[in-house]
Amino acid sequence: MANLNDLHLLLDRIDGRGYKAYKEIAGTYEGRGWTLHIDHVQGDPFALPSKMRLRAPQSLAQIPTDLFSNRVRRVALQDFLSREVQRAIVREVQGRRGTGRSGAVTIDVGGQEVLERTAMLVTSDWVEARVEVGLPADGRTILGRQAEAILCRELPKVVEASLLWSQVPQEEGRAFVECVENQESIRLQLEELGLAAFVADGAILPRESGISDRPLDEREAVIFRSPDSLRLSVPVPHPVASKDSLSGMGIPRGVTLIVGGGYHGKSTLLEAIERGVYPHVPADGREYVVTSRDAVKIRAEDGRRVERVDISPFISNLPFGKATEAFSTDDASGSTSQATNIIEAMEAGATTLLLDEDTSATNFMVRDARMQALVHKELEPITPFIDRVRELYDERGISTILVMGGSGDYFDAADRVILMRDYLPQEATAEAKKIAKARPTRRAVEAGSPLPRDFGRVPVARSFDASRGKRDVKIDVKGLDQLLFGKEPVDLRGVEQLVDASQTRAIGHILHVAAERFMDGERTLGEVLALVEDFLDREGLDPLDPFHRKDHHPGSFARPRKYEVAAAINRLRTLRMRPSEESSTRPQARSRRRASRGGGAPRQ
Ligand code: ADP
Ligand code: MG
Repeated sequence: MANLNDLHLLLDRIDGRGYKAYKEIAGTYEGRGWTLHIDHVQGDPFALPSKMRLRAPQSLAQIPTDLFSNRVRRVALQDFLSREVQRAIVREVQGRRGTGRSGAVTIDVGGQEVLERTAMLVTSDWVEARVEVGLPADGRTILGRQAEAILCRELPKVVEASLLWSQVPQEEGRAFVECVENQESIRLQLEELGLAAFVADGAILPRESGISDRPLDEREAVIFRSPDSLRLSVPVPHPVASKDSLSGMGIPRGVTLIVGGGYHGKSTLLEAIERGVYPHVPADGREYVVTSRDAVKIRAEDGRRVERVDISPFISNLPFGKATEAFSTDDASGSTSQATNIIEAMEAGATTLLLDEDTSATNFMVRDARMQALVHKELEPITPFIDRVRELYDERGISTILVMGGSGDYFDAADRVILMRDYLPQEATAEAKKIAKARPTRRAVEAGSPLPRDFGRVPVARSFDASRGKRDVKIDVKGLDQLLFGKEPVDLRGVEQLVDASQTRAIGHILHVAAERFMDGERTLGEVLALVEDFLDREGLDPLDPFHRKDHHPGSFARPRKYEVAAAINRLRTLRMRPSEESSTRPQARSRRRASRGGGAPRQ
């Protein structure tokens, strides 16, 4: 095998030549017991940087095996090590040296969340960092000496400072893994505790600023403290501050209102709960805010496309008789988009809905007695959420956590009322119920037809076209919430629990994989999503790119939840769905079939 000295000589030889000569350096080079794999060499200094892997055998790396003995620990350890590589790059690599991306060395680390990602892989045989390097040039002329400095001197220092257990801060690494395992252990316990979410005492919920996810300075933040009536204690596998359980506020399943005056911290609490579907890094402040993995943020999202969604439980009798059992539009309104978001979340399997009045359509949330008196039900297509929220829980087991400072009409429907005051929660259930009794809303309940039981939408594979120009598959991301799938932009700005651009990139490829492999013209969206989850559990993220070859840098992906995958599918403007054979979104057709099988009388 070639070694770093050979690479050095090669770089000397191509120094000063045209950029294309860099192609010669592709290959594997032996370092001091570890290897550098140059898998893909960029075409010019402005192109996507070159893809390389740094692999150290466990005989050298010596990562304690208990730190990756199960899936949760492995993901956490990999995340920790990728951050160590990042730190070492900042310390050891000079940075820009030439034209375009010359000299840039990066690894795809995450933000405050800990996600399964392709940046790092630890197995019982080796540990491997996947990095990108902008091979240096002056214009299109190779800067061989600069390349030699990066590849033969700086990268070896990075490997030896971050992939070898003897060199990393071991206590920190272990604490990182244990902290993530604690979070996942709490998440597993939520169900038996009857909780939708848990917010630990001592958490720091507010962020540094509207554009930063880092915690607000401890001295400026009001530290979270549960009201006594909602406090419970959850055991954790690894002691935290020498205690083997954590105390905090349990938000029970059911309907929970978060009320309080403006600027008292309601949305900040809900945002922490939204993000609590993912584990967080230690010292995030929200690392022990843990939410059911099946909690989905619902908001109004006017302008989005909708394809054959049965929104009739919320919207019916549209002007001019437009049907809503299989509703499609290229430009949804605030209320129709919010109704769609709920039905689609149910279709994907959500068990908790998270809503904030700040991002909801007012007319979707409530219609008070006076408005009911003025605008008759026959003239109002909307059944407001307030008339469905109980049914969602009582009949479907779907909990709601709702921030609502503006309407006390919800008091009747709530199981719990949490009042935020000066950024601290108090329980106000009894008082709210007393007020509800003393001052009836005099609203009439408006729900008519029941919530749908089956969704019966079958995605049409042909409507997913990932091709662009000469390429059969061309998928790009422009930041966190803009996906370019083939020629189709997919706007994900309304998908608030998407947290990492590498999730977005993964979603783009998942759409293609799902259309190619799993959409057979029979399977419903729910079934396709289940197959996607199986695939990712089994194969990981490495094979997502169709051009990926084994033992090559797979590209930068982080794992999304199925809800964000579904959200992207549902927002693709070319998407076509057809009704499934078994179900029809029209109840009449359902009961007709039932009747013909002799299974009961048709509904009137
Ligand atoms: P609301 O939704 O009740 O109107 P927000 O959650 O938007 O209030 O909070 C208002 C402001 O207070 C935000 O700038 C937020 O960062 C800050 N804030 C929220 N919670 C805390 C806290 N625990 N400590 C310090 N500042 C906070
Ligand atoms: Mg708010």
